[in-house]
Order: sequence, then C-alpha cells, then structure tokens
Amino acid sequence: MKDYEMVIGLEVHCELSTESKIFCGCSTKFGGAPNTHVCEVCSGMPGTLPTLNKRVVEFAVKAGLALNCEITRNNKFDRKNYFYPDLPKAYQISQLYLPICRNGHVDIETSNGRKSIGIHEIHMEEDAGKLIHDEETGMTKVDFNRCGVPLLEIVSEPDFRSAEEVTAYLAKLRDTMQYLGVSDCKMQEGSMRADVNLSVRVRGAEEYGTRTEMKNIASFKAIERAIEYERERQIDLIEEGGTVVQETRRWDDEKEYTYAMRSKEDAQDYKYFPDPDLMPVSISEEYLESIRASLPELADKKRERYVSEMGLTEYDADIITGSVALVKIFEQAGQKAGNFKDAANWILTDLLKFFNDAQTTPEDKPFDGDKLGTIIKMVNDGKVNRKSGKKILAAVFEEDVDPEKYADENGLAQVSDASAIEPAIRKVIDANPKAVGEYLAGNTKNIQFLIGQSMRELRGKADPMAVKDILEKLLAELK
Ligand code: ADP
Ligand code: MG
Ligand code: ZN
Repeated sequence: MKDYEMVIGLEVHCELSTESKIFCGCSTKFGGAPNTHVCEVCSGMPGTLPTLNKRVVEFAVKAGLALNCEITRNNKFDRKNYFYPDLPKAYQISQLYLPICRNGHVDIETSNGRKSIGIHEIHMEEDAGKLIHDEETGMTKVDFNRCGVPLLEIVSEPDFRSAEEVTAYLAKLRDTMQYLGVSDCKMQEGSMRADVNLSVRVRGAEEYGTRTEMKNIASFKAIERAIEYERERQIDLIEEGGTVVQETRRWDDEKEYTYAMRSKEDAQDYKYFPDPDLMPVSISEEYLESIRASLPELADKKRERYVSEMGLTEYDADIITGSVALVKIFEQAGQKAGNFKDAANWILTDLLKFFNDAQTTPEDKPFDGDKLGTIIKMVNDGKVNRKSGKKILAAVFEEDVDPEKYADENGLAQVSDASAIEPAIRKVIDANPKAVGEYLAGNTKNIQFLIGQSMRELRGKADPMAVKDILEKLLAELK
C-alpha cells in the first residue's frame, strides 16, 4: 500500500455570548421554552428590518485580533438563500464577499512540536432554529428560539495533517474564545460546532485530493473517531481503484461510521447577494485601537508569566491556563494568600481532585478563589494545620462556607500558645517514662514518638512545630 497523507480543513461555528440576538432585541438564552425568545424580525415576518447588534461586531473584532487576523475595515453582509423549515426568512444573513476577518493564524502545540494553522477567514452570521422530531406523534415541531443567535464561523486553511492537530486547535480556539468572553464554546450545548473537511493524497503529491465534509460533530472524542474512520474509508476506496466523491457525510458516533448525506452535484446554489437591508460595517482606526487595548491577557502570555514570574512549573502552568475558570481561581487565591506558588500547589493537589471526584469542572461549578486564598493564608500563618485546611477546602467546595467561620465552629483552629499546649505535653511526659528515659539517655529519635502522643492528646489541633519546641524545653528541664 502507498503511504498516504491526510489533509484537513475546519469550519468552526461559535455562538456568541451576547445578551441579545444579532438583528433584534430577543434573548439568546439557551434552553427557554420553545418559541418564547422570538419576535417579528427573527421569525421572518415580511416587512420587518434587521438592526445590527454592535456587540457582535465588537466580539468578532476581538476574536479576529486574538487569532492574528487582518480586520476588514469595510465589511458587509450577504444573503444566503435556501429553504428549510428552521429558517423562516428562507435566507440566512451571512458574509461571503467581504468577511470581517481574514488571513490569521493559530499556533498549536503537538507531540511533534509547535505548528501554525492558517485562518482563512472569520465571518459573522445568524443561526437557524431547531427542528424537534416527535417520535410519539410522528410530527416535527419547530423552535425559533435559536433563530438569529449570533455566530462566528472560523474557516481554517487545509493545514491539519492529523487528528491530534485538529483537537489541539479546537481546544486552543475554545480557550481563546473563553478568555475573550465572546463565546462559552460548549460543544455539548452546541455553542461550538465543527465541520471537518478531509481528503487524502499520496505523501509528497502536490495537489490535494477530493475532500468530503462531515458536519456538526458534537465532541472532541467523536471528531477523533470520525477522522480515523473517514481517513481509512477514503484510502480503502482509492486502493480499490475507486475515487472519492465530494460530498457531505454524516458521522454516526454510535455506529461509528460516516454515510453520504448529499453530494456536491445536487448541492444548492445559494444565490448569494449583498443584503439590501443592512449598511456595510465600517470600522474606524480609533475603534480598532480601543478594542486592541481592551484585549485580556491570553493563555500563551499567562503561561509564560506564571513560569517566569511566579515560579510555577511548565506542567502546572499548562494545566491552570487550560481553563479560564481555573485561571480566575488561581489568580484570586494567589492574590489573597500572597503566594502564587502555594495557590498552584493547592489547586493541583487538592482542588482539582475535588472537581474530578464530583465529576464536574471549574467551568460548570462555581468556586470562590478568594476562599482558597484565605485557607492557604490560615495554614501558612499557623492558624490551622494542613490537614484541617484540606477539610475546610472540602466544605468550601461543597457548601461554599466561610473558611474562618467554619474553622471556628468546627474547632479546627490550631492551638499554638504555650499555656494551652503545656499541660497536655506534661501529661504525655508523665505517662511515658520509658520513652522519656531513653530520650534523656541520648536516644533523641524518641522525640517523634512523644510529639505524636502529644498531637493525639491535643486532638491534632496543635501546631506540630510549637509542640516540638515546648516538648524539648520541658525535657531539657528534666535533665
Ligand atoms: P466551500 O466554500 O465549498 O465550503 P472552501 O474552499 O471554503 O469550500 O473550504 C471549506 C473548508 O475546506 C476550509 O476549511 C478548507 O481549508 C477545507 N478544504 C478545502 N479543500 C480541502 C481539501 N482538498 N482537503 C481538505 N480540506 C479542504
Ligand atoms: Mg463551507
Ligand atoms: Zn427577535
């Protein structure tokens, strides 16, 4: 068999997290009762006019700048005409001729090192509604709530050569959008959807092979499986003397195969034309600069700074910057505790374990980083010991308790003043004449045993360092 190379290009749709839709004032909230976020504009009533939501332009420019694109200073909207029951106007407002962003790139890390993936363009468009097929009645219902929810479509160059590169890119896109606050990119809620264009060619060939397109695959894992399946299907086809047909195929993640949906021959001609109801969008230099100045620090920069300025390991910095919610927790906790390295340690050894055990993530379960910072400070100041600190953290994680109040109410405060510790230690010395005798005879290792007994007597609430000091002082008096 010849040596084949896979070529992939992605079209990724991200739903923008604006409050209202792209051309009307309706809410974009996910999951409302069907047809409750709808007005005459987004339900396509004749004679209504769209009004562009400024926020959408702002978010598109932010995304474009973060993905190293050129911003098209005069961009405009076009109508893409087709009929489908979830599209009441019978056209989608999109951008074909002059998309808002072009010629960008995203740098990804893979097991083969760093690679740059080209962004062909990013355009703004509106989402369609949803069809709900009711098995019981055999009827199909339509929900227009999603009609007019703003989307960015991010079109890559055909630069991917492996599934690993694809998932690294998608993760980077998701993180970037989340850092910018322009989209939450939740694949499971459909706010990030990827179409995978895939072809194969004999390695070294100059021309690309014919591609197929797999639409709207719903998770990273499913994308990996779909890519592997489609690669093999195309290679087998070519090896048997057949040819790949340019078509849209659907990936069935349960049965693990792709099947043809429609071929390019009967693909529709969308009869694009400039939307006559919308003015071209003109972006001034001042506007562009104000957006540029407002961009937050992104993952790459943060990772570098965490390592060089805060002394985190690359591995730790990688994990923390991989989640925007975790970054927030980390920065709040480090600030509050006055110690970022400790904040990273607590997050990586304790907090993430809580999230894993609860089968959730910092994105889905709110956690107050300030409170972690308070706990770290309490431990570092000797107010509670590490073990109690972990107990408090568990209570904050589960019930969002106030750390100091919780420590008081549960008697976790560490006893470190001598007057409280001394009587307990004297008791231990009296009860263990043998160990004390051996210690005094020179077997100083026995001190560990005596510390252990004292800690037990104090029910673990004492500062072990304070116990050791007092114990040594009292033993010295016996010499
Ligand atoms: P269309 O307008 O038909 O959707 P585009 O040229 O805009 O086609 O490409 C859509 C996507 O397909 C882009 O992400 C592009 O990188 C990718 N693509 C184009 N040609 C190929 C190919 N031969 N193999 C794999 N991907 C491709
Ligand atoms: Mg396309
Ligand atoms: Zn509306």
